[in-house]
Amino acid sequence: MNTRRALLAAGAAVLAGCNRVPEITGGFTGASPERGHLLRDGLPAGTPSVVRRTQVVIAGGGIAGLAAARALRQRGIEDFVVLDVEDAPGGNSRGGSVAGIACPLGAHYLPAPGDDAPEVQALLEELGLRKRVAGRWINDERHLCHNPQERLFFRGRWQDGLLPMDDVGAATLAQYRRFAQLVDELRGRTRFAIPASVHPWLPEHLQLDTLTFAAWLSRNGLDDAQLRWYLDYCCRDDYGAGLDAVSAWAGLHYFAARHGFHVPGEGAGDGERDAVFTWPEGNGFLSRALAAPLKERFRPARLVRRIAQTRSGVEVDAFDCAARTHERWQAAHCIVALPVFVAARVVENPPAILQRRAAHCRYAPWLVANLHLRAPLDDRPGAALSWDNVIHGAPGLGYVVATHQSLDPRPGPTVLSWYMAPGEAQRGALLQRPWTAWRDAGLAELSVPHPDVAAKCTRIEIARYGHAMAIPRPGTFATAGAPPAAGRLGFAHADWAGYSVFEEAFTLGHRAGLHARQRGTI
Ligand SMILES: Cc1cc2nc3c(=O)[nH]c(=O)nc-3n(C[C@H](O)[C@H](O)[C@H](O)COP(=O)(O)OP(=O)(O)OC[C@H]3O[C@@H](n4cnc5c(N)ncnc54)[C@H](O)[C@@H]3O)c2cc1C
Repeated sequence: MNTRRALLAAGAAVLAGCNRVPEITGGFTGASPERGHLLRDGLPAGTPSVVRRTQVVIAGGGIAGLAAARALRQRGIEDFVVLDVEDAPGGNSRGGSVAGIACPLGAHYLPAPGDDAPEVQALLEELGLRKRVAGRWINDERHLCHNPQERLFFRGRWQDGLLPMDDVGAATLAQYRRFAQLVDELRGRTRFAIPASVHPWLPEHLQLDTLTFAAWLSRNGLDDAQLRWYLDYCCRDDYGAGLDAVSAWAGLHYFAARHGFHVPGEGAGDGERDAVFTWPEGNGFLSRALAAPLKERFRPARLVRRIAQTRSGVEVDAFDCAARTHERWQAAHCIVALPVFVAARVVENPPAILQRRAAHCRYAPWLVANLHLRAPLDDRPGAALSWDNVIHGAPGLGYVVATHQSLDPRPGPTVLSWYMAPGEAQRGALLQRPWTAWRDAGLAELSVPHPDVAAKCTRIEIARYGHAMAIPRPGTFATAGAPPAAGRLGFAHADWAGYSVFEEAFTLGHRAGLHARQRGTI
């Protein structure tokens, strides 16, 4: 039996051994697949019952769309709207709450941005999260992830950090060192930047984009099971797909663009961790701050179904999912901050680059289950409860503790956010299986280190993302990068970057907002 199956069997056995059937309420929350699928399955017939005018329409209110809105306001353009199919802004970076405890519905952290991301730096400064003192950034500690940050449940114990270390053999350590050396050499030769989308691809990037990360590791003789598990975990955690699927560029970018790869206890970089911003509601903190000034300019429940350039401007047709009516917006410019597979469907006469990008993109589905617990969990021996807690060999990606940033030392109710990237083959199951199936999968996994989880859990709310993010698979660079501007249309979304993180979405959105045309300048 492989580790994953053994672990699931162990979890199921623990659950089956519970004295009482847990009375756990719950259901699905977050993005509505029914609304999004109206584009595919057919919208209620009708013509626009109202025509409205504005300077700029931003289609999509995720981080890219919200960043575009902020840039417009910085330019003094206040006459715009943000149309989003959901009831709340933020897209993949929304926050929620379960039983009154704030928790993430999707993205949950932002590493402190480096000098390649001046736009993100400026945002954090504006929000009071950091400031420059004598040329150096000083982060507000209250918003940085408190220690302990991460631990791994490995061979029946919790260990500090996520790289398997307890009792691994000399051969494993040798491969860790070799990988660390290769990453160091690569960083010495080639620049890896975040955001990547606004920097030119370098010849070595292009070469690394021709093969999978798994193939690159094999080519370099890196076949150790623990190293491979760890790297696969990192890819699934960042990209929603494993090292067999993502490109060598993506697998290496994860380390080379940030902290490198360090074997704990060895080397100059040991113990260095990037400062990470996080909040109880995850990056929902950032999306809420970005959306707050928009007020009625954020138009919820608007499914954008057609974007067309006309002789004098742009026409954007939307379906109001709440009122079930059609509306039309006429504007001088439209920023298309939609996933590219949606953009390719709704933009009339889409530019060739959009068609090519959409044809290349394959999407990772994701699931986030927020479990409310009435009391702290029993724990296995080893490292203390951390912000990020990962179970070696499990199908899921572990859980973050929503109350980790609390300064109240008293133990009490909490919410655990359990993440899973189930793989493309499970997209249909994500839509069709009842919430209780995902409840049971999550409980089975968490029962291994915490046998009392089912007994202490009162409620589970599950957010599903059928098309969460473009997988950075080989060949991405042929179509990814700075998105095009086509006449009165600008484009912005993390899909254009080839992989999805806050810095990419925000920077692309900001730039699209800076370049939007105004009426009178056409
Ligand atoms: C589970 C999960 C965890 C993640 N964790 C992190 C993390 O910790 N840190 C990090 O940096 N990144 C994380 N990410 C990546 C995240 O995707 C980016 O950080 C960022 O939120 C992407 O923003 P975006 O605007 O490019 O895209 P999206 O969030 O996809 O925004 C697109 C918007 O368009 C709307 N929309 C779609 N179709 C239509 C339509 N037809 N009409 C109107 N509106 C429409 C959507 O509702 C959405 O609001 C995570 C992603 C997921 C799914």
